[in-house]
Amino acid sequence: MRVDLHIHTRPRSPCSTIDPTDLLSEARRAGLDGLCLTEHQNRWDDRELKALAAAAAIQIFQGNEITTNQGDILVFGYPEEVRGVVPIQGLHRDVKAAGGLMIAAHPFRGFLLFGITQLRMDVQQASQRAVFQYVEALEVLNCKLTDPENQMARQVAERLGLLGVAGSDAHRLDEVGRCVTILEREVGNEQELITELRARRFNIEFLTRRRDEDKP
Ligand SMILES: [Zn+2]
Ligand SMILES: [Zn+2]
Repeated sequence: MRVDLHIHTRPRSPCSTIDPTDLLSEARRAGLDGLCLTEHQNRWDDRELKALAAAAAIQIFQGNEITTNQGDILVFGYPEEVRGVVPIQGLHRDVKAAGGLMIAAHPFRGFLLFGITQLRMDVQQASQRAVFQYVEALEVLNCKLTDPENQMARQVAERLGLLGVAGSDAHRLDEVGRCVTILEREVGNEQELITELRARRFNIEFLTRRRDEDKP
């Protein structure tokens, strides 16, 4: 089951240009079997989500992208709306109590800009960032990041024994389905998705050219 774990739509994520209805056909074209709506700091209400899912030929899941004092966190299995910037400790406590999963989104985005490679930050140092004490997973493939940024995330995930997942962080239609988490089993809801990720029954893939782009 090919799932894109990280997608933004408008108007709930104003930074995105993706219309939810266009997203459904685009996701099919991109060969996805499922997608996760991870709007910034707000959620779809259940009724609207049901209506969208009814029109879809693929599975639709919902997560949150929450802004914390330790960076952006993707959360699954925590159906609460969290606005503003929150301390990660409190979020971790609440998500854990709900049985949810926390993923550090694009953990090394911009690390080249800040000259960390020039300072030769190594994997061991990178692993000490506080955020990694509070998450079970890192996004190790994100289509907006450079290869070295994604690579650093993958090495840190391996070193710390955390899960390494893929999500496009799509804000435009052509980004949908670029970074895919491929589950070994079919899942029908967020809880099953979490179970499969925790059991490490998945692979990840980065498509530099999407499957449909060779077709006319
Ligand atoms: Zn955004
Ligand atoms: Zn995002």
